[in-house]
Amino acid sequence: MHDLIAGIDIGGTNTVFGLVDRDGVVHGEGRVPTATHAGPEQLVHAVAEGIHTALAAVHGASLRAVGIGAPNGNYYRGTVEFAPNLAWRGIVPLASLFREALGVPACLTNDANAAAIGEMTYGAARGMRDFLLVTLGTGLGSGFVANGHVIYGHDGFAGELGHTIAVRGGRPCGCGRRGCLETYASATGIVLTVRELLEEGGTDSRLARVDVEDLTSRAIADAAAAGDTLAKEAFEITGRTLGEALADAVAITSPEAIILFGGLARSGDLILAPTVRALEETLLPIFRGKTRILLSALMDRNAAVLGAAALALAEESDR
Ligand SMILES: [Zn+2]
Repeated sequence: MHDLIAGIDIGGTNTVFGLVDRDGVVHGEGRVPTATHAGPEQLVHAVAEGIHTALAAVHGASLRAVGIGAPNGNYYRGTVEFAPNLAWRGIVPLASLFREALGVPACLTNDANAAAIGEMTYGAARGMRDFLLVTLGTGLGSGFVANGHVIYGHDGFAGELGHTIAVRGGRPCGCGRRGCLETYASATGIVLTVRELLEEGGTDSRLARVDVEDLTSRAIADAAAAGDTLAKEAFEITGRTLGEALADAVAITSPEAIILFGGLARSGDLILAPTVRALEETLLPIFRGKTRILLSALMDRNAAVLGAAALALAEESDR
């Protein structure tokens, strides 16, 4: 007899789900394209069908709860609100749609908060009560955990480190403002930095011969690992900007660790070394040498699904 939790990650392209047990073992999974469904109701219907099929394949399994990670997810209201990467309009009551479709409790939060809870339950933050998770993907997402709980703020949207201003009047951001941290410290940001360095000229770089669409954070990491000076400088600049912003974050919640996740975190020491250096140089003296920067322990597992499932588990133990 297995009591399983469905972890669901709503992405712009695909919605991924998995049936997870208490120990973080995934017993069945599937994916459904997000955008091809006419609206959220149709997507929920397709995901619920997929969950029933996966559940039927596990002998003696029953579904206990559903956890959902979604962009612009509001934990308090169980809603997805004005998500820029989803084709849905306005405010969507996603948690209650899943509750009705599956007949079990459902809860929801944004994807970075779900990832933070996943690290706390199954990953690098096990046993920690105060930490910060930062996802360095297309944008920069963050989940702040204090005293063992995610900080949601009064409206459910707290912890948007990616949209704090890193450079006043700097690069335009998708949020409509300028100079947000995520326009520098993200997979997208480092590509922009390389383009700027290439335009300035001066150093010969193999990245100058890469087609625009092939200029990815991965290509930059490969070039830096091969000793390309310009690529290494781009990692320096990115890590410095990130480290300085993290020093500000440490001054607010004093985390014992900052866990990096996502595409850019995969470049390992290339991003870690300059980030740690800038962090330590910038920190208020009372905080120096106390905050570890770690890489996610869930990078090669289905972190988004595990995080969403962990949210539902945490919810149960809070009840
Ligand atoms: Zn922004």
